[in-house]
Amino acid sequence: MINRAEDILKHTFGYAAFRGSQREIINTVLSGHDALVLMPTGGGKSLCYQIPGLVRPGMAIVVSPLIALMQDQVSALQQLGIRAAYLNSMLSREEAGLTLRAIHDQELDVLYIAPERLLQDATLDRLVNIPISLIAIDEAHCVSQWGHDFRADYLGLNVLRHAFPGVPRVALTATADQRSRDEIVARLDLYQPEVFVSSFDRPNIRYVVKGKGDAKAQLLAFLQDFKSQAGIVYCMSRNRVDGIAAWLAGRGFKALPYHAGLSAEERQAHQQRFLREEGVIMVATIAFGMGIDKPDVRFVAHLDLPKSLEAYYQETGRAGRDGQPSVAWMVYGLQDVVRIGKMVQDSSANEQFKRIERAKIDSLLAWCESTTCRRRALLRYFGEESDTACGNCDVCMNPPKTWDATEAAQKLLSNIYRTGQRFGAGHVIDVLRGKKTDKVAQFGHHSLSTFGIGVDLGDQQWRSIIRQLLVQGYLSVNEQAYGAIQLTEKARALLRGEVALFLRQDAMNVKPNRPRRAS
Ligand code: ADP
Ligand code: ZN
Repeated sequence: MINRAEDILKHTFGYAAFRGSQREIINTVLSGHDALVLMPTGGGKSLCYQIPGLVRPGMAIVVSPLIALMQDQVSALQQLGIRAAYLNSMLSREEAGLTLRAIHDQELDVLYIAPERLLQDATLDRLVNIPISLIAIDEAHCVSQWGHDFRADYLGLNVLRHAFPGVPRVALTATADQRSRDEIVARLDLYQPEVFVSSFDRPNIRYVVKGKGDAKAQLLAFLQDFKSQAGIVYCMSRNRVDGIAAWLAGRGFKALPYHAGLSAEERQAHQQRFLREEGVIMVATIAFGMGIDKPDVRFVAHLDLPKSLEAYYQETGRAGRDGQPSVAWMVYGLQDVVRIGKMVQDSSANEQFKRIERAKIDSLLAWCESTTCRRRALLRYFGEESDTACGNCDVCMNPPKTWDATEAAQKLLSNIYRTGQRFGAGHVIDVLRGKKTDKVAQFGHHSLSTFGIGVDLGDQQWRSIIRQLLVQGYLSVNEQAYGAIQLTEKARALLRGEVALFLRQDAMNVKPNRPRRAS
């Protein structure tokens, strides 16, 4: 059957060879097994279900949340002579009727469908009565609350296993952390899936992160290297998108705004210009980008912090799909942290969810404050270890000044130990800084030897140290104990002075009173 697959690759799609693990994935699905495919954006996930869908008898069902893109995907397949159609809420009754008829008459090779539509009884009843070649669940991370794009409809997809017995299911996503992985397998009820993890490295993307000063001036300076090149500038709010787009346009850039507050026509028009014209800069909220396949995006700039490293990776991943050198550039500041923290706090989510969100922000900040190769740190976050620095990020190319934070870290660790490893960052820092809060009085922590030994550093500096210690594995957060910070086994080495901790001097507000230079 793999010969037939190669045939389709060459003659239907016109490609010379499979890329990466496409062949193995297709083989697995052809043999009737479930699969979980983790591949970065642009890696070539679509072929992994389109080809086995064509080889196996019956119609392939492709579940996707990207309603706006289904039409494009279907037309692209039709142009290759593949009988494709879609079902979602954007179709008129008549159009949907035609597609349903084609399904019934078994005239389709591939059906794209929105999850909420698939899960309607009427739809399922129809589909279970015709031969199905496979079910692909695209953007599978949407089932994970830990991920950045949770969709409640995805939770219902676990019924597919029993509704379509014997039909292989392949879940695909560009989100790879272990936690999302486990959630996808469990919640979609995949049966003994083969898991395929591609490298998430995007070697042609250079990562650059800076502290936020005058963000506009910083952006303008950055853009000097990208005259008439296409790029995306992400901002947190619609207002800011409009403001930055107009401001850039006033400076001679072809900048267009994109956010959910614009009419559907405007969004469509701006997207088309971005895709078709040269050198358009899209200034956008995160409403822009999912599924956008423009190969020559030369930069992705973040004027505000994204929500998490997963989101950051997805958003920056839209740069350089053609493999040519590209830059992911970001400025971040304390205001961002306060804003995101407040958003999490004010949301109606439960405490556990909020803690997860906060942990994600901490990982992102710790990454921003990284003193070692950013690419390595990013890949490590996605579970990929590499032993060499990349030479193509700001840290590698321009090593930051650091200070020796070992002693400060020791004070912090002893303080956490003495307060019983039962408290969150706020209280631990209050004790260190000698603040007589009610809670300090209640637990008698003002009489500890560690009370007030950290007055030389500010609140934010201590938070930054805690983040680094968490990320480097000296501390852990106990979810069962309401987010209490605890020492890990590794902490001993730091307490005994067997290892040292270096932090950036230029990290957010972090300027110790008497910096001791170490590099
Ligand atoms: P993903 O869904 O993982 O983001 P796509 O499936 O859209 O990626 O593929 C990204 C691009 O790579 C598309 O333009 C696709 O046509 C191309 N592509 C995928 N597989 C191959 C291959 N084996 N050979 C050449 N080009 C490929
Ligand atoms: Zn590097």
